[in-house]
Amino acid sequence: MPNPKIAKVAVPGPFLFPLDYLLEPELDLLTIDKPSAVIGGRVWVPFRNKQIVGLVMDISESADFEISKIKPISEVIDIEPLFNKTQLGLFNWASQYYHEPIGDVIMTALPKRLRAGENAEINGMQYWQLSEEGQSKTLDDISKRALRQRKVFEQFVDKGLKSESDLNAELENWRSAVKTFTEKGWLETTNGPCLRESNYAPAPNHPLNSAQQTAVDAVLDSQTNQTQFKAFLLEGITGSGKTEVYLGMIESMIKQGKQVLVLVPEIGLTPQMVSRFEAYLQARVAALHSGLNDSERHCAWHLIRTGQIQVLLGTRSAIFTPFKNLGLCIIDEEHDLSYKQQEGFRYSARDLMVQRAYREKLPVVLGSATPSLETLHNAQTGRYQHLHLKQRAGLAKLPSLKLLDIRGEKVQEGVSRPLKTAMTKHLEAGGQALLFLNRRGFSPVLMCHDCGWQAACPSCDANMTFHITQGQTSDGGVAGYLQCHHCDEQMAKPSCCPSCDSEEFVNVGQGTERLEDTIKEWFPDKRILRIDRDTTRLKGSMAELTGIAQRGEADILIGTQMLAKGHHFPNVTLVGLLDIDQGLFSADYRAAERMAQLILQVSGRAGRAEKPGEVLIQTHHPDHPLLTTLIQKGYTAFADKALQERKSAFLPPFKYQILIRAEATNPQDGMAFLDSLKAGLENYWQQWVDAKLVEGSIDFWGPVSAPMLRRQGRYRYQLMLQSKNRADLHRLLTEMQPHIYTSPLARKVRWSIDVDPQEM
Ligand code: ADP
Ligand code: ZN
Ligand code: ZN
Repeated sequence: MPNPKIAKVAVPGPFLFPLDYLLEPELDLLTIDKPSAVIGGRVWVPFRNKQIVGLVMDISESADFEISKIKPISEVIDIEPLFNKTQLGLFNWASQYYHEPIGDVIMTALPKRLRAGENAEINGMQYWQLSEEGQSKTLDDISKRALRQRKVFEQFVDKGLKSESDLNAELENWRSAVKTFTEKGWLETTNGPCLRESNYAPAPNHPLNSAQQTAVDAVLDSQTNQTQFKAFLLEGITGSGKTEVYLGMIESMIKQGKQVLVLVPEIGLTPQMVSRFEAYLQARVAALHSGLNDSERHCAWHLIRTGQIQVLLGTRSAIFTPFKNLGLCIIDEEHDLSYKQQEGFRYSARDLMVQRAYREKLPVVLGSATPSLETLHNAQTGRYQHLHLKQRAGLAKLPSLKLLDIRGEKVQEGVSRPLKTAMTKHLEAGGQALLFLNRRGFSPVLMCHDCGWQAACPSCDANMTFHITQGQTSDGGVAGYLQCHHCDEQMAKPSCCPSCDSEEFVNVGQGTERLEDTIKEWFPDKRILRIDRDTTRLKGSMAELTGIAQRGEADILIGTQMLAKGHHFPNVTLVGLLDIDQGLFSADYRAAERMAQLILQVSGRAGRAEKPGEVLIQTHHPDHPLLTTLIQKGYTAFADKALQERKSAFLPPFKYQILIRAEATNPQDGMAFLDSLKAGLENYWQQWVDAKLVEGSIDFWGPVSAPMLRRQGRYRYQLMLQSKNRADLHRLLTEMQPHIYTSPLARKVRWSIDVDPQEM
């Protein structure tokens, strides 16, 4: 009898390798009609009294387990592979590099419906349309006061099918109106195709300028003889037309019958961006992001996998999507933090994208106005080819940046006099003003005026932020509530001080709500729009608000970093940054880089059309060397300086880091676990050093408490491993990891491994 075949199946759970399952013997008469499992396809397998979905990573004749104890596969789901061997190779690499169980990597890569075992093919998804009765109705049948209903109804008249994301793209807060119409029988749901015909808006018709064309050619020319891996950094100042460069490349790829994957930051993927791509390319673009429902996500995934759509625009997790014929990878705003998953499987979509391109022998383009220091370092050492766009496209000019020294200045509610004067001037000239304050809420501290008591979160080492109740303005007495921005816990504002019974509170510090209040008072006849997490909670509201800003239907925009990213507000001529000083003195060595990126990204919203822009940056530290370098000499000079500092401090990108975190409700457990882990790691390392198996060195920092020790009721600690040699670092952790899974100390804590951490 031949050796039985063993399927190596990745299943969810803390298993670093796939598990063994028996394939049905092929010669068995009873099973001859049954499809057999394929590598890269899903199967149902028995696991601890349950049936679960797994993915076959390999089929082999050798077992890691005693054959008689291996259970057979219960049922084959896919008879065609979902992923080819190169893609499976990427998943294996990711599992090893991020020290993440392979099953968890695979489950991240699959849309939810496929994780649940549903068919990979999908014929359609749910839409709404007007019923026969609905078609006989007009706006006159709807009360004049039901504004939302009227808006929603208008979207359906003569417009055919609407999916959930269509509605999200067009409207905010549409659900209750749709429900009402469905209940009345005016709207009905229907199954429609994943892929619909579309009428594309005409594309803006301007030829690429020579810098843009050079960039496009560099990438395309690298592929003329044969397709090969090559990485490019496209460094182009804000408004230099990077998007058009991407589109130029994509257009050429589509002509060659190839597909393109474009990653964009969480907040950058707006319906406007999808339409801009579709208009330029005159082709359908699939979008994958967190705002989709399960069937929309499944549809997009299916259309790309089967090659029915050429371009996928997606956020972080789109990196795992299988393509039929991928020809080019693009990652926009590559410095953006949203590419790093900060919980569970802590991958960097940017780094995985480069690895994917390498394995699939493709060009990859990383674009940014403010590239991360890691990427700049890769360009400087020749690993990436560096392409530049140094001028704004069209007639737009870069705005002038100016530091406003506010030491000793009269500052009212966070806004200095010169900034207020500049606002008046720009508004009178018909421009829009944008005020940037990276703190939402009304005030970050609520304090007792008599005894100094501060409202702290009961579960975190942090103050609670005071928010005013929507629609209400403050007048000292203030209706509002407290919310912790770290664990989201909410509570009512106390009626009197818990410590001294005083009824007088003061709000210390500024948030966007308070700023909005002040600005309303100062400019009573101006239209003010606040864009932060609180005003954009509802699906579709971000699109609606940025639309208002873009069309010039608001005069003053107030916002957090949500407002900084990628938006094109042609009429904004003044940008004011209220409070950037905390970035200069943070304990996190990355804070300065983040601050510089934020300043330039926010500034980049000014003067994007014909009218010149002005940027005023309030600071108490106008002589800070990093700040003056950035303002006077620009990002490149700033980055060079920052890289020098990193080098002399032996920090990334000149060293590699892995951060191990542990947290528990008991204050001692996290520390105890990390102490014992460190002892184990040091022990292995010493053995290798003694046996002369390694030459380099590894630094262990900690364990120490996390910057915020207690969060959501858990005490948090961390241990940092750092080395010049990436392989050593990984080898050591790989050796240790199985012991962690069996350690009794580990069971008392929540622990995680963060490779190339971006946050401390
Ligand atoms: P970035 O992504 O680099 O900030 P965009 O690609 O959004 O810049 O381009 C900024 C603006 O310049 C857009 O309105 C775009 O239509 C316009 N633009 C881009 N390329 C050109 C060009 N070659 N000629 C004229 N306008 C251009
Ligand atoms: Zn008090
Ligand atoms: Zn909290």
